[in-house]
Amino acid sequence: MAPIDPDPSPSPIGATSRLTIDLDAVAANWRAMAALAPGALTGAAVKANAYGLGAVPVVRKLYATGCRNFFVAHLAEGISLRPHLAGDANIHALHGIPPGTAHEFVAHGITPVLNSLVDVDAWRHAAAQADRPLTAILQLDSGMNRVGLSAAEVKALVEAPERLSGIRFFAAMSHLACADTPEHPLNAEQRRRFMAVTQSLPALAGAHRSLANSAGILLGPDYHFDLTRPGIALYGANPASALPSPVTPVVRVETDILQVRDIDRPEVVGYGAAHEVTGPTRVATVAIGYADGYLRAAGNRGKVSVAGRLVPILGRVSMDLMTIDVTDIPPAQSAPGMPVVLVGDNLAIEDVTRDMGTVSYELLTRLGSRFARTYLGGVA
Ligand SMILES: *Cc1c(COP(=O)(O)O)cnc(C)c1O
Repeated sequence: MAPIDPDPSPSPIGATSRLTIDLDAVAANWRAMAALAPGALTGAAVKANAYGLGAVPVVRKLYATGCRNFFVAHLAEGISLRPHLAGDANIHALHGIPPGTAHEFVAHGITPVLNSLVDVDAWRHAAAQADRPLTAILQLDSGMNRVGLSAAEVKALVEAPERLSGIRFFAAMSHLACADTPEHPLNAEQRRRFMAVTQSLPALAGAHRSLANSAGILLGPDYHFDLTRPGIALYGANPASALPSPVTPVVRVETDILQVRDIDRPEVVGYGAAHEVTGPTRVATVAIGYADGYLRAAGNRGKVSVAGRLVPILGRVSMDLMTIDVTDIPPAQSAPGMPVVLVGDNLAIEDVTRDMGTVSYELLTRLGSRFARTYLGGVA
């Protein structure tokens, strides 16, 4: 494998918890998404620090793999990535233009996604000021009712096309609410509305059309249009739980056993005495808790992997610690210092997050600053 990428967030001294991010797997997953939508450009959602995995090493790897369209949420995320990407890489900021910041988009070469008529007006003024056409993406609300122009607002633009003067549309986009549920009728309805609205606005002629996130790509060619925006699939999680995963795992979360105790009579474990031990039990403590991004909801429900076997979490997850049942693991493999896998090997991220009552997106974006991070397959 290629050398380790320079790490944007240096690992804490003495960290015993390890987060390994396989950038070759990110690249393979991007190619897999591209292969599923061969007629479209394949972009990448890298918002929220590439779903917590480190946007700088991720975008460098994706650029080297061929990606040229990167979606961030906030302007600041885009500005921080700009120096790490060549000029032919487009960075699109999904959240529109915060008041008074249009000139920052121009200065840093970030494309705003215009979500409202206020955004449209701000960008037209910026183009007038720059005295040249400026590129943007127009977001249309096709039924999610979250961000984007409503059909009525698009109609206002059709009737007053001068409001778009100086704006050149790279793309028209919309976002699917239920793409992970292929049979949901809203998918086809959103697609129908998206097509109708893009066709109604002459300024969008020639612009790319973009509808699909990761799960949207799996919905098939009707949803691919000209530009896709996969996120979670790149990071190795299955975008649609009912289907077999089309992607390779990217993340491995591992720690070491901190302490072990053998309990041979009725006792309780952890905060709130939330777990009662009845028979002989070997309890191992690991230095991972909810402050490390491991959800507290996994208490008394989740599993970890020790010596290749799944074992249960005992009691509550504390801020910095949790306890696991290693009664069935040979003592040599459950001693202090022995590894415990929290995500990886026989523990898919979807299995972990199901026990937490959440989705892989939430766990990934929470795996915070306490881990020693290792990137495999980085681009120098
Ligand atoms: C986050 C996001 C994506 C990527 O979604 P995934 O489900 O992670 O593939 C695509 N488009 C928009 C508008 C997003 O906000």
